[in-house]
Amino acid sequence: MEKIKNFINGQYHDPISKEWLDNYCPATGAIYGSIPNSSKADVENAYIAAQSAFPNWSTTSLEERSRLLIKISELIEVNLERLSEAESKDNGKPVNLARRIDIPRAASNFRFFGNAITQFSSESHESIGHDAINYTLRQPLGVVGCISPWNLPLYLFTWKIVPALAAGNCVIAKPSEITPMTAYLLGDICNEAGLPPGVLNVVHGLGTTTGQAIIEHPDIKAISFTGGTKTGAHIAKVAAPMFKKLSLELGGKNPNIIFGDCDYETMLDTTLRSSFSNQGQICLCGSRIFVEASIYDRFKADFVTKVKHLRVGHPSQEDSDIGALVSEAHLEKVMGYIKMAAKENGKILCGGHRVTVKDYEKGYYLEPTVIEISSNDCTINQEEVFGPVVTIMPFNSEDEVVRMANSVKYGLSATLWTNDLKRTMRMSHQLEAGIVWVNTWMMRDLRTPFGGTKSSGVGREGGFEALRFFTEPKNVCIKY
Ligand code: NDP
Repeated sequence: MEKIKNFINGQYHDPISKEWLDNYCPATGAIYGSIPNSSKADVENAYIAAQSAFPNWSTTSLEERSRLLIKISELIEVNLERLSEAESKDNGKPVNLARRIDIPRAASNFRFFGNAITQFSSESHESIGHDAINYTLRQPLGVVGCISPWNLPLYLFTWKIVPALAAGNCVIAKPSEITPMTAYLLGDICNEAGLPPGVLNVVHGLGTTTGQAIIEHPDIKAISFTGGTKTGAHIAKVAAPMFKKLSLELGGKNPNIIFGDCDYETMLDTTLRSSFSNQGQICLCGSRIFVEASIYDRFKADFVTKVKHLRVGHPSQEDSDIGALVSEAHLEKVMGYIKMAAKENGKILCGGHRVTVKDYEKGYYLEPTVIEISSNDCTINQEEVFGPVVTIMPFNSEDEVVRMANSVKYGLSATLWTNDLKRTMRMSHQLEAGIVWVNTWMMRDLRTPFGGTKSSGVGREGGFEALRFFTEPKNVCIKY
């Protein structure tokens, strides 16, 4: 049994209450470890450590902060295999996905922001005619809170903590209680790299207790949160009276719009990926597929054939395309949406059933599922399912598909397949989303702003946007 501990002031600690939560392995359905059920008192200890570390960390030279963050990046790469296996076991994702995407991206987050902070500049203005110059300081906020979800555990955990650290803040972070393992292992890596104690503190536990203690803490200056829209709304309500700065990266229900003039084979392969990568548990997955009527029948036949060939299997097996969903409760929720879609006249073209993987009968496996629908108003097209389930339906005109794409409360990303440049330019303006991908999906350049509109969030992360979020601008006006 693996026992996870809180990482506070550079050391591992049991929770003060000595209470522990079970940690399940999604591939087997068995308990394989325990994690601290941390309370307000643990968060307070983390706060004291972070607050004490802040004066030194915030005045550490940019070169030194950069060197330390890049050193952590290198150590993540050295530990690639160990971290990939841990991520796969904890989350249920295929180990080959963790090795190719999740862990390398965690290393990239450290390297990118380690470099970016040395290029981050503030503005200055000469006030001509007034003999004055204005310049803007960008000061770290102090102690900040970072809360991340279970779908891309180390990838998103580091996406939040690293810009905060780079900008000179000290951090209290809480990974999802469902997938705490790699955030736990990161503590040793930070120590080995020489990150000073107290600069990063990781407190494990439930959202409603540990997470709540972080968002309620009066001296934690900002919260960077990625997770569900409902939790985001709750955090906004709690934080507002304290005027905490908030970055909220929330849910998505993203359209994947396919025109007949696209590069068909590339579109088909990418659509398979954008539908089912990570068991469809990526906020950016294109779960609503709209296909121009002229190629609809061809697409339907080809896509369903490809989906049927996807191999659902134990995440540690290299040839598994689809691993296990993250938890039994989540599997039941996703299956509930499939049943609801069938009730609302959706036609299940493939999938729809729980899969029994030999020797791992209690694992949380689900067939990749394609549902044909006739209206964008049905529940499965309006609510975030967050599983290996997509819908397909035809459209006849550009206006019609833009209307359907935007007729949802979310606005995170949209994917567009076409070779018509004018249409690309028009629709990129019209689609209500924080990110529009054209003829590709999930191609990320870490310098670009990342985030959603509508119920998909507030604020942008990535590049200098993240460094701006984690700093307070202060203007200085000097009359000479
Ligand atoms: P949740 O909102 O349930 O949880 C996210 C994090 O918040 C977890 O660490 C959770 O802890 C914690 N939390 C829960 N309640 C509170 C609270 N009252 N106070 C403080 N923290 C709390 O989301 P999921 O983990 O289920 O993640 C899936 C969601 O994340 C999907 O909606 C998905 O779209 C979204 N997401 C958005 C992304 C984006 O960039 N826009 C990227 C990836 C995912 P615990 O797990 O212990 O409950």
